[in-house]
Amino acid sequence: MHTSRRWTRIRRPGSLTLALPALFLTTCLQALPAQEVPISFDDFHGFEGAVEYVREVADAYPEITELLEIGRSTMDRPIHVLVITNSATGTTLDRHVPLRNMRKEGVDNVPPMRSYQGKPGIWIDGGTHGNEYTGTEVTLYIIDKLVSGYGSDEAITRLVDENTFYICPMVNPDGVYNSVDRGISQRQNSMRRDDDGDGRVNEDGPDDMNGDGLITTFRYPDPEGRYVLSQEDPRIMVRLDRDEETDRQRYSLVREDSDEDGDGEWGEDPMRGIDVNRNFPEGWFTDDNSQGGSGAYAASSPESHAILEFFSTHRNILLVQSFHTSGGFTYRPFARWPDEEIPGPDLTVFDDLMGTKYKELVGEPDNADLWRHPYRDDRGRPYGFGIFIDWAYAQYGSYAMTTELWNWRRDTRGLPGYQGEEDRGAWYAALLAWENRPFDERIFVPWEPYDHEQLGEGEVGGWVSTYVGGNALPGASLRHVAETHWQFELYKAGLLPRLEIDSARAEVLYRSSSAARAQASSRGNTVTIRPQGGLGEYRVVKVTATIRNTGPLATHRTQGDDLAGNREDAIWLLGDRDRVKFLQGRAWQELGVLAGTLDVYEEGANQRAVSWLVAVEGEPSLKLVLTSQKGGTKVRELSVR
Ligand SMILES: [Zn+2]
Repeated sequence: MHTSRRWTRIRRPGSLTLALPALFLTTCLQALPAQEVPISFDDFHGFEGAVEYVREVADAYPEITELLEIGRSTMDRPIHVLVITNSATGTTLDRHVPLRNMRKEGVDNVPPMRSYQGKPGIWIDGGTHGNEYTGTEVTLYIIDKLVSGYGSDEAITRLVDENTFYICPMVNPDGVYNSVDRGISQRQNSMRRDDDGDGRVNEDGPDDMNGDGLITTFRYPDPEGRYVLSQEDPRIMVRLDRDEETDRQRYSLVREDSDEDGDGEWGEDPMRGIDVNRNFPEGWFTDDNSQGGSGAYAASSPESHAILEFFSTHRNILLVQSFHTSGGFTYRPFARWPDEEIPGPDLTVFDDLMGTKYKELVGEPDNADLWRHPYRDDRGRPYGFGIFIDWAYAQYGSYAMTTELWNWRRDTRGLPGYQGEEDRGAWYAALLAWENRPFDERIFVPWEPYDHEQLGEGEVGGWVSTYVGGNALPGASLRHVAETHWQFELYKAGLLPRLEIDSARAEVLYRSSSAARAQASSRGNTVTIRPQGGLGEYRVVKVTATIRNTGPLATHRTQGDDLAGNREDAIWLLGDRDRVKFLQGRAWQELGVLAGTLDVYEEGANQRAVSWLVAVEGEPSLKLVLTSQKGGTKVRELSVR
């Protein structure tokens, strides 16, 4: 498998340029090569290659990346999340409002938040289904674009400064490992399971019978077989219809495998476990409360468990993108429930906004099939149970979607002799004519005679499923698919909320001699102060500010603030507790949900005017902390005038 070579790194001369004026610094950065970890898409990275790549990126870009391990798979492989954000920017509420009531002295039971949790977040994953590793490649492509573009591309720099990208290239590393690194296609994770019910687990997976390092196909003459050789090219097998008559030799095809357990089945009990994307705790049960999703119970897989735990402690993710293959379209929620369960404004955000942009980027703006919801309206039936994006939208409150990345007809690029015809045969023929050049005989293995111990004489060979299955062809096709979907993520990241504290003022209304017993009341614009004597100097200060969300999306999806674990936005006025007395209200004020600038929201709902009346002693510093789970945290220092 491909592993990216480690080239000599070109470091940015940070300490040298930092002393120079800002304008010059910008010019310098633009002139420097920003791709410090080269990456190629001429082959799939697989598990090993993807892990090596994210480690190198984390190493090369310490200022804007952090590599997290959020869990481990059944086979003890790491589930990585690469966090991409400018770590020098951003703050979180707990840095300003310390937790005063620690349950026990010296017990650090609430870990401090990381600054990236105080920015709007976007989650992007691949490889939930192990054999859909085009998704893994697209996440790596997006990582490369973000880290390479940072500092040279203005739009990317701003997005990385202001937001947090959580990128998980392999939700199911065992599935990706088996599918790519070993060449045994595996959609599921590797939880131990007795697929054929013989009391033994994983005892009969595919085998490389002829020892060529690949798992291909065994074809053998069989009077009951469903295949014949193509008359144009005997390398290609043609499938017959169920009752189709033929005078030609019939063949059967089986996975390259010997029958380890002697039950007459081939490759029927491999390492595969359960479907991770049916193991989430939203709509896991069917209508009659029987099991609908996969696994013994919802979140029983280490992979879904790791994601649920991560999301539970990272509340800032407003956008979720899960990359799968294939088909070439995008699903938004729900799979389990009809559209009546989605509030109208969210349908507008999904369909009119994101869906329209997606179809445009794919190049078929009028093709309604490209943007779907999986629930089967026509039959009033769920598409599936326990699906990740259903959970991420319904319970966590993010705009979540699944993209089936690759469409062989539409997305093939750089394949001589193929012009996008609907005919799959033409595509295969072009591929066979071409394969020896760029792929070095890795995608098609010429048929060779083989004497199978149970099935007798036949031949081993055919397409290598790693390259010719549901995944994008490596090279130009993969790059094309990755670029299209990188553009979609770039667009969506631009929709994230952007909070601002505007025109903040701390205005002295009154000076007197007792803070502790000052009282005030206000009606309309009139403030009455009734000092009640006492000692000490104080000033009565009116603090006002305007809060604004200048980003297109609101800080929650519709009713997202009502979901368990979520809360509405709030603003704190903070100062030395012993020297600042609140005369009206309290230190923090609820703001509800700050709408965005999209016209799906009520006009003006993206801003709030806030005010406080406080008595301050001496010259304490005052600051405003605006805090939103998915909209970010902003701080504004105040000077009392
Ligand atoms: Zn899938």
